[in-house]
Amino acid sequence: MINRGAHFISGLLNRKPLPATIRAAQAVMKAYISLPALFSHQTAEPGICGIIPPRLQSLTVICFVAINVILCCVRYQAFSGNLYWSTPQLQVWRYVSDRTGVLAMSNLPLIWAFAMRNNLLMSLTGWSFSTFNIFHRWVARVATIEAIVHSIGYTVFSFLGWYNYDADWKEQYWWMGVIATIVMSLLCVFSFYPIRRYTYEFFLLLHIAFAVLFLISMWYHVAIFAGEYNVFIWPCVAVWCFDRAIRIGRLVFLNLPSFRATATYNQDANSIRLTIPTRSLLRPRPGTYYYVYLLRGIKLWESHPFTLASWSSKQLANGSNIQDLAFMVRPYNGFTARLRDHILQKGEEINGHISKLSVRMAIEGPYGTPYDLSKYSSILFIIGGSGITVALSHLQALLESLKESQNKEKHSGVHSIRLVWAIRGAALFDDVFQQDLLEWRTPSSLTRQVDFRMDVHNTGAAMPATQLNGQIEIAQIFSHRPRVHDLIMECAEEWHARHEKMAVVCCGPGTMVDDARAAVVAAVGKGYDEINFHPEMFHW
Ligand SMILES: Cc1cc2nc3c(=O)[nH]c(=O)nc-3n(C[C@H](O)[C@H](O)[C@H](O)COP(=O)(O)OP(=O)(O)OC[C@H]3O[C@@H](n4cnc5c(N)ncnc54)[C@H](O)[C@@H]3O)c2cc1C
Repeated sequence: MINRGAHFISGLLNRKPLPATIRAAQAVMKAYISLPALFSHQTAEPGICGIIPPRLQSLTVICFVAINVILCCVRYQAFSGNLYWSTPQLQVWRYVSDRTGVLAMSNLPLIWAFAMRNNLLMSLTGWSFSTFNIFHRWVARVATIEAIVHSIGYTVFSFLGWYNYDADWKEQYWWMGVIATIVMSLLCVFSFYPIRRYTYEFFLLLHIAFAVLFLISMWYHVAIFAGEYNVFIWPCVAVWCFDRAIRIGRLVFLNLPSFRATATYNQDANSIRLTIPTRSLLRPRPGTYYYVYLLRGIKLWESHPFTLASWSSKQLANGSNIQDLAFMVRPYNGFTARLRDHILQKGEEINGHISKLSVRMAIEGPYGTPYDLSKYSSILFIIGGSGITVALSHLQALLESLKESQNKEKHSGVHSIRLVWAIRGAALFDDVFQQDLLEWRTPSSLTRQVDFRMDVHNTGAAMPATQLNGQIEIAQIFSHRPRVHDLIMECAEEWHARHEKMAVVCCGPGTMVDDARAAVVAAVGKGYDEINFHPEMFHW
């Protein structure tokens, strides 16, 4: 919330020139706290244990862990001559066990709240699902360690003679507690990054089943307290039910027009386009994503996130409005490969390399924390492969805001847009260039207001000359990878000299996003403090 509040206040303040000291403090905050990776360069590129969150999020996690460690360790008053627990040793084991047990329980609502798709805290803080997912994992790890200490503590306490260890196993609260601790530990083990990455559906189903088992075992574990500790269990159930209810509501509401999509697979570009008619109450926002369900086969629950690429409205014969939402999907191994194969098998071949099919499909959304780029003067998109969807949705929104600005409905301050796109073959570029960038390619009173440039870095097979016809004017073609650091520095220097507020939006492989982040940090460090960085990732 402090983060969101700071953004809001700085948004208000930015309308007037800020005093030099506040700007300097802002720049220091950006360069050393809110933007950089924790230690080194790496934050978007997953390591063996998953991603290491950027510094501000990592510091939040470190503070949380530190608070829990401190609360577990301080102010135990053990003394000889205690009338109830005779020895200090016995007292310490008992106090530590109780303290860690209560702390583990009090963390449960946070674990559930941070895992939900519909999490109000995302709107309040402006932090993404991926950030809350990191918090979810860390709170769960801390709570699990506390539960393990609690279990070990009570076992030792029992062995030391306070309870009868063998008789304890006959007590329901005892073995239910053991089950809860084991299930909690297994939940952590089976959430290890490689399992999530390579067997996502197995991870998901197991996670849900274990979470239910855990709540039930906890319920019976604390039943001896006559409901005193249920106050930590009910919020988990409530948050979970609330999230599921909202998800079903969104699914039904959005898809009622048809529960169908038009799917087109372009073999040369190895890309699927989905166009899904939805009810149009909400205005689509760039940078949002939707979960896509394929309504065939037995895996109906399976849903995968895809970023909105574009949208258009139309009116049906009965007068109702329909919003067509479009997505671009890169087929990989599981869900996306099944979708591609289905289109290839059942679809109608439009020309040699494009197949089209009407598929039963549903989407759930919108999700994500959208942001408005029209408040910046200069925008630099650094995009890798199918990350182009992020740029396309923003370009459409920018065009709309230019129109609104022309009609005096809204002010758009955008002067320069540079789109740097790295691809592994010409076909995807050709497809996007022909279908999605038409308005930007055609000179008009709108596009003339903006200096739009496109650098295409094709590291795959060279583009045939025919594909370049008419494209050269706004697109420069290179045959090497983009030099992300140099590009950002160059733009920052140029735009800073013109006192322009600049946004860098990056969506691509983790290493590309990490390079962009490091370059923005370096640019801010050099005094180009009017830069904001918007990383987008296709994993969490
Ligand atoms: C916010 C976001 C936006 C994305 N936008 C796009 C896009 O516009 N275009 C595009 O081509 N790709 C996009 N992706 C990536 C896309 O979702 C994955 O490539 C796709 O799910 C993997 O397909 P697969 O065939 O390999 O699936 P599988 O092999 O069946 O799944 C494996 C992978 O999918 C991920 N995954 C599956 N389901 C989910 C889920 N419900 N939530 C989170 N991750 C899941 C897992 O982490 C795992 O890595 C996006 C990802 C995210 C997180």
